[in-house]
Amino acid sequence: MRFDLITIFPEFFAGPFDHGILRRARETGLVEVNVQDLRVFTKDRHRTVDDRPFGGGEGMVLKPEPLFEAVESLLGQSVGDVRQQSARAPKTAIVLMSAAGRVFNQETARRYAQLERIIFICGRYEGVDERVAEHLATEEISIGNFVLSGGELPAMLVIDAVARLIPGALGNEASSQNESFSESPSSVATSPPVGAAPLQAETADALGRMKLESPTTNHSLLDFPHYTRPAEYRGWSVPEVLIGGNHAEVAKWRRAAALEKTKRNRPDLV
Ligand code: SAH
Repeated sequence: MRFDLITIFPEFFAGPFDHGILRRARETGLVEVNVQDLRVFTKDRHRTVDDRPFGGGEGMVLKPEPLFEAVESLLGQSVGDVRQQSARAPKTAIVLMSAAGRVFNQETARRYAQLERIIFICGRYEGVDERVAEHLATEEISIGNFVLSGGELPAMLVIDAVARLIPGALGNEASSQNESFSESPSSVATSPPVGAAPLQAETADALGRMKLESPTTNHSLLDFPHYTRPAEYRGWSVPEVLIGGNHAEVAKWRRAAALEKTKRNRPDLV
């Protein structure tokens, strides 16, 4: 899978792709990352990428011409108007990073992991001429309800989330099967947890509710809590059931604990 990043700060990306899973995915050829300096597509002496906003107001706006030309150069073809299906390169997304976009989540990450190529447009200043969102980008994506100073960090974040879902990227280090946001509650067991007595009644109730709702709603669970050695640290013990070696009991406890944690930290998901 290939990721292209269009940016006015190409140096920004020195480093983040050189560690862990992303590094290995690049080394084994699963992932290719290409950083494209937007200023290459300017034509004036000052290499101008921005201009003042029509209608007045603060700040500067990234001009459309260099962005359209950068994408077309990367694709090796004219994009025309992206809203006309025939103009779209297959299995390719052109993603505009934008605080005003649709909020990125694990479902979007899974969808992107099926693609062959994603071109990210990283905004700066007050943002990007709206014609880029309307006619060049296939999607406008936000990473959350807050405003950052540029699209570089958001694009990196999306690449990290997507790359680790590409088959073969995780190796034995971790699995994306049972992690946060990966499970639909229809598969959640209704058995009460072992070793978590105070939660039982509440948990069983919520499990029942989720089972009822699951056909029509889009719930998912957070990951269950993980523990490692030592079994006791500063007087705090690892839950007994995890040490007992009974796999069925461990699985039950994990499901219940995941649900309890989801209710506590993300009640909006339950
Ligand atoms: N005026 C804009 C914010 C511009 S911030 C607004 O109020 O919506 C400058 C650039 O940072 C944006 O063009 C975008 O590329 C990036 N950016 C800022 N916050 C972001 C977010 N939450 N998600 C994705 N990109 C973001």
